[in-house]
Amino acid sequence: MQKSILIVGGGTAGWLSAAIIASHHKNRPKDQFTIHLVEAADVPTVGVGEGTWPTLRNTIRSIGIDEKTLFKRCFAGFKQGAKFVNWASDNHQYYHPFTVPLGYGNIDLAPYLEDVQSFADDANYQAAICDAGLAPRAPTEAEFQGVCNYAYHLDAGALGDLLKEHCRDVLGVQHHTGTVKEVVLDDQGHIANLNLEREGEAFSLSADMYVDCTGFRSLLLGQALKVPFKSIDDVLFNDTALALRVPYKDEHAPIACHTIATGQNAGWIWDIGLTHRRGIGHVFSSAFLSEDEAFDNLANYVGAPIDDLQINRIKFQAGYRQKAWKHNCVGIGLSGGFVEPLEATAIMLVEVAARYVAENIYADEKLLPIVEKRFNQQMDYRWQRITDFLKLHYSLTKRDEPYWRAHTDEATIPISLQEDLCVWKNRGPQKSDFDGVAELFPAASYQYVLYGMGFKPDFDTQAYLYDQQQTAKRIIEKNQTLTRQLLQDLPPHRNYINHWLST
Ligand code: FAD
Repeated sequence: MQKSILIVGGGTAGWLSAAIIASHHKNRPKDQFTIHLVEAADVPTVGVGEGTWPTLRNTIRSIGIDEKTLFKRCFAGFKQGAKFVNWASDNHQYYHPFTVPLGYGNIDLAPYLEDVQSFADDANYQAAICDAGLAPRAPTEAEFQGVCNYAYHLDAGALGDLLKEHCRDVLGVQHHTGTVKEVVLDDQGHIANLNLEREGEAFSLSADMYVDCTGFRSLLLGQALKVPFKSIDDVLFNDTALALRVPYKDEHAPIACHTIATGQNAGWIWDIGLTHRRGIGHVFSSAFLSEDEAFDNLANYVGAPIDDLQINRIKFQAGYRQKAWKHNCVGIGLSGGFVEPLEATAIMLVEVAARYVAENIYADEKLLPIVEKRFNQQMDYRWQRITDFLKLHYSLTKRDEPYWRAHTDEATIPISLQEDLCVWKNRGPQKSDFDGVAELFPAASYQYVLYGMGFKPDFDTQAYLYDQQQTAKRIIEKNQTLTRQLLQDLPPHRNYINHWLST
């Protein structure tokens, strides 16, 4: 069966989707499968998006890019999780590392700890590795391997260029430049073709399936097919970001091996270490903070003059399209929705969505409505779970500024999260709470955030939880031994990257 795919948009979402779909079908005969990508020369990409999720390791490997090339081309660093500073209260911090707690799935260590806030340190070694600024793998380990689970910090523009080159040169994606001027629908409301313009010349493109990667514009799914946008700004209030590229003091400066998210009076600042610079940005709510105040927060954070640095200002509305797939069009990336980058979920959702499209585009006409319905159900659920997980970071705060108080107002907390918190107050989050097909975050992520924020379940009422005292003690001691050993064995982050890339 012949299938043609047309991806509209050449940002991270467009090129990553192209790579995932094209590599999935790379062995199909050329007369059965064609994939095109068109991007406007006069519409820039959003230009941010530097934190990723560990799923990207497998994705990069499966599309055929080696890890060394990724690091060299994208000035990449390892990301081993996130450190949240000043979220629960001033001068408080905790880690959400990517490696799951020791004994995960067999025993929950939290009930056995005197202070649940030490959970990340007692249950796993990765927080200590992050604090010490070490790489997640020893020099003897192979590419894509690591004693600690990891993702990447990447230069977003450079990643786009690398993916574009790989898609065109290796995966056979046909690249066009042109600005979509009109989306033509047939009498059933499906997309029939696109009318475009390039340097004053009109042309048109058509395909069996269209992937809308046009960013916040959502040109196909939102504007042409009129799929409504579901705002969630009553739950997640941030609507503005100021992003900066900050040079290191010198080329030997340490590179943080985790994202640092520091709470501010009405938002938070991200700090991402690449090999050639840091990416720093302030996400905030314009209802609570002016741009001038946000700029002052940034200057304070950087601790050096920032007037000469170029600022990328981005306005956004938190929310998502009510359907990600309609007729012969799927929205992937910002065109499908966006929530603030607190847990770097955007690129992960691109990976998940593109893989689904890749696996299902050959469904026959009768199956397509089922495929479409399932995808929409899954994406809707994922957006809801991401919303809840991000809100969790805010809802347990003890900070007293109006912005943070508003986040703890029950009226702004989704019922689903309120229900989860009731259940977890009783016995903490368990692995079985997260066994669904469309689940993105494991119980471990919730444990790290909940306990890190100081949420203490009523373990005292759950006597049965204490019958594994000896096992818990053994695991905690094992973690102490592993921590000591890894602190000795693992190399400093920058040293590791420099040495590895020079071999
Ligand atoms: P864009 O980059 O906006 O690309 C849109 C493309 O569509 C462009 O190529 C443009 O030319 C094309 N286009 C538009 N109109 C037309 C037209 N008429 N005709 C033809 N082509 C057209 N994600 C993460 O995973 N981790 C992060 O740490 C992270 N941080 C972020 C921080 C901020 C402040 C923001 C706003 C986002 C962040 N994201 C993050 C999200 C991430 O940036 C995006 O998911 C990612 O860049 C994908 O964007 P996109 O490709 O959907 O859209």
